[in-house]
Amino acid sequence: MQKESEVVVCRLGHRPGRDERMTTHVGLTARALGADRVIFPDNAGQSAETVEDITARFGGPFSVECSGSQNALIRDWNGKIVHLTMYGERVQDVEEGIRTAHREGSLLVIVGGEKVPFEIYEHADWNVGVTNQPHSEVAGLAVFLDRLFCGRELDREWENADRRVVPMETGKRVEPTDCDE
Ligand code: SAM
Repeated sequence: MQKESEVVVCRLGHRPGRDERMTTHVGLTARALGADRVIFPDNAGQSAETVEDITARFGGPFSVECSGSQNALIRDWNGKIVHLTMYGERVQDVEEGIRTAHREGSLLVIVGGEKVPFEIYEHADWNVGVTNQPHSEVAGLAVFLDRLFCGRELDREWENADRRVVPMETGKRVEPTDCDE
């Protein structure tokens, strides 16, 4: 269900085996950098489980869904659509307009895997390039979300985590939390 003013990431396409790690990392990056939900294709159940498991341990709110009808989701989306692509307009030129749109409603952020159908380019409100150089959906999504939220996502508090990483100069420390924290 769509709630008000969400940022939802849609990972379009998934090649089982080959894309497992990349699809998982799209979900983890969406969660860590402030999106509300990620929607995977329905053949990406393994990646969805991994992201759900991380959310259960490290907190949310964040939800993961698998959809057999991503095309319908995109067609019926009630809000603006951003498609991340190396061929798009420069993120630094369009980010302000996208932030304004997000203040007024929900955003669907589409990232591809293999070739993205041209209809997506036509249907998107913005085709956005994070540089116009080829790189990865994970890198593009991370920079885009950080631009969208102006870095505020870095200070986010997590709810219902059973553990918390204590930032430190050297070493690794993880503490249990009270679950209602
Ligand atoms: N070869 C595919 C095509 O022609 O559509 C793209 C493959 S690329 C590895 C996978 C995804 O990474 C793209 O669909 C896009 O979402 C994202 N991506 C890659 N480079 C990008 C860039 N410079 N800016 C924004 N997104 C990018």
